[in-house]
Parts: sequence; structure tokens; C-alpha cells
Amino acid sequence: MTPERWTLVRDAVERARKSRWYGRTLAAARLEEPGDFAALPFTSKQDVMAASPFELLAVPPAHAWHYHESSGTTGKPVATWCGLTELARMASIIIDAVPELGADEAMLLNRFPSFAPVHFLMEEVLRRTGRCHIAAGSMSWDVPFGRALEFMRQLPVSVLATLPFEMVLLREAGRELGVDVTRECRHLKAVLLGGAVLPPTFKKWIADAWQVRVVEIYGSNETMLLAISCPQGGLHVATDLFEHEILDPVSMQPVPAGSPGLLTITSLVHEVMPLVRYVTGDLVERSPTPCPCGRKSPTIRVLGRASEVIEMRGRTLAAGTALTPAALVDACYEFIAAVGARIFFAVILKRGIELLVETTPEKPATTALEEVRLAERLGVPVTVRWLPDGDVFDRAALFRTPKIYKPGQVSDWRGDGRKTITVMEALLEWPKFGLGTLGGIVKREIKNARRRKKLAATDR
Ligand SMILES: [Zn+2]
Repeated sequence: MTPERWTLVRDAVERARKSRWYGRTLAAARLEEPGDFAALPFTSKQDVMAASPFELLAVPPAHAWHYHESSGTTGKPVATWCGLTELARMASIIIDAVPELGADEAMLLNRFPSFAPVHFLMEEVLRRTGRCHIAAGSMSWDVPFGRALEFMRQLPVSVLATLPFEMVLLREAGRELGVDVTRECRHLKAVLLGGAVLPPTFKKWIADAWQVRVVEIYGSNETMLLAISCPQGGLHVATDLFEHEILDPVSMQPVPAGSPGLLTITSLVHEVMPLVRYVTGDLVERSPTPCPCGRKSPTIRVLGRASEVIEMRGRTLAAGTALTPAALVDACYEFIAAVGARIFFAVILKRGIELLVETTPEKPATTALEEVRLAERLGVPVTVRWLPDGDVFDRAALFRTPKIYKPGQVSDWRGDGRKTITVMEALLEWPKFGLGTLGGIVKREIKNARRRKKLAATDR
């Protein structure tokens, strides 16, 4: 650590001490010289959860610009406070990496969920470039898949920001509606994808299917932007925002470049909710060579959450040989590209991986070679099941979300409009299904229940 860097880190840790949590845990911490940094205690995800919502806050609550929470599906929700200053720093990093956002004709369709901080990071980017923002979070019923697709056909949307898998869903929604997305969403130049692993073959699949440049944006609710890919494709760590360490999951000592380790970060510019040696829980691997783009910051590959690695057949996280979520997704996309399939769903069982692959119109003639190659790549037993069109992904379900109206207590029956008689009826209108669709849903549910039972029975 250079003396200048150490000054930054020391000041950041001092700022963090203003929160109740770090005021307590770092009370006795020595901050005399760079060597003291490695002796500071780690902050775990559980710590952040336990400290939610106020303990990590280093300013009065009203001085934070935004408050967010995780969904809390796996326990207590994790609170995230963010400030306008750090958001502005992050926005300028994105503008530098994605020139498409500053272009004269730039228009962004922002599908990041609106309760996720990244949604507002995109808002800040556009505030700074002065370009047009269509704020349409994917979790909102206001803009379901079909409508998002309509925006891209009718408006000159040049950049789309969303979760990687939504690129698959939108394309399939297009197929259902008879829309060729590469031809009809012709203004789209780049997609900004984050929130899940995006290994090379998946990235290539999206770039080919949509004929766009794919930009990877990596971060989390607690940290927001951690890295973004440059025009040459290198995922650069935002070293201006964080001091980062990549640590062995067992010894918690630094790993050499090219080896997977836990990304651990210390906020350098965050003033609202600064984190010190926060163990993100994500496995990343630092490239041993500099990026050809010339940027000084190191590049990483994100391998997925350490808690989600697949340990099987003697392959373990401790030995650095576990199958990572990114490797699984990467191999599956390579596989479906090789056999000409459209979509897959992977089930991780005790005995191996069951890969459900949907084919159109039917299973390709020879795929045995690809299946062997897939199993070899993954290093765990794989069973591929070929399913008919619609069995892995019921595309019509994308259009079965309700239409939302304004909350209200008055219904005017005089015109041609809907004649509602309850508040909920006035608020939501579910699409009407014919008996054929209803029968199809019931049949599908029965088929899925049988398949699930059979699969579970084979994995005792
Ligand atoms: Zn680069």
C-alpha cells in the first residue's frame, strides 16, 4: 500500500468509526501504519444483517439520500443506506466505461428493480449525461415484459439495463408475440447487465441473440458498484471507491492472481454506510495480466456466491476445486449453443446435475458427444432430459400478470370502461383465460408435480 493509499484507507476507517457498529468493533484498532490494516476485524454479511437498520449508519438517518432493504427471503432484511456523493462517484465510473450512455441519441430503459439501489445509480448516470431515462423496474407490474418490449420497438432505446436472464425472457416474450428482437429493437446498442453471474458463453449468447455490446456491472445492495467492464471486456474493480482484497475462504489470507478467493472490500468514499473489510461472500478471480484497454485497475471474473458453490465428488471449496455457479452457467450455455436448444433449467441434486433442456421443434439428432463434453467440463455427473417446447418455460405466463389501475373507490359505469364493484377489482385486472389456457395450466402443473416427485425419488 502506497503512503497516499494508506492515508485514504486510514481516513475512511476513521469515518466508519462514526457508526455505532465500527465505533464499538474498531474501538481498540491500531491505525498507525499500512501494516495495521490486515489486523482489522472482518465484517460479515451476518454482521451487516445484525446491525440493520441503524448500527452501520455513520450519519443521521435523514442525511442519507436513500434507504433500501434486501428482500429478506432468507432471514432479516439487510438495510442499505446510500449517499449522493458516493452515488455521483459511481455514476462517473459508469459513464467512463459505457460511452453509449453519453451519446447524443442515448435513451436508457432501466429494468433494474426500483427498490434496488442500482436503479437509482442509473438515474444518477442519466442526470449527469442529461439523456432520457425510462424508469421501468422489472419487478413492477406497471411495465410487464410485453410492454418493455414495446418500449424498445417504438422508442429509440439505445441502452437497456437489467438482470442477465431478462435478456432471455425478453427474447422469448418477443418470440411469443412474433417479434424478432434483433430486427425490431434496432436502436439498441448496449445492454448493462448485473445482479447475477455472467460467464463468457452466456455473455456471448446475449451479444449474438440481440446483436448488442454486453457490459457487465458487478456489485451488491450493500456496496453498490464494485466493478464494471470496459469496452475491451475486462471487468475492472472500482479501485477509486474501495480498497479490495481477494482472500482464501479458509485461511482468509490473500490468494495469488488467477486463484479464486472471497472479495473483501473497504469503502474509501462512502460516508453514509462505510464498510470495513466487508466479506462480500462472492468468489472472484483476479486476472494476472493487465487489461489491453490501458486502465490501471485490475480486472476480475465473478464466479458466484461462495455459499452457492457445488461441492460434489471430492471437489470442495476449501480445496479450490468446487464447481462454481459461473462455471455451471457457462457450461450450460455452451451446451445449448452446441445442440441448438433455446433454454435450459439446471437442477442440482445430491447425485449430480439434472439438466432440463427444451428443444424446438424436437431433440436434435445427435447430441451424445456434447453430453459427454458437458459432463467432462462440469466434472460431476450430468443427466440431460429433453423436454418438449414449453415444458421448461411457459412463455405465455409472461403475459398473465395483471394490469394495474390507480387505487380508487369510484367506478363510472356510464361509458365502455370496466364496471368494477370492489377496490381490488378497480386496482387489478387479471387477463381473462379461455378454458383451453386454464386446462393447459392445470395439465402443466400436474406434469411438473409428477416430474418433481420422480426426480426426488431418484435422489434419495
Ligand atoms: Zn479494460
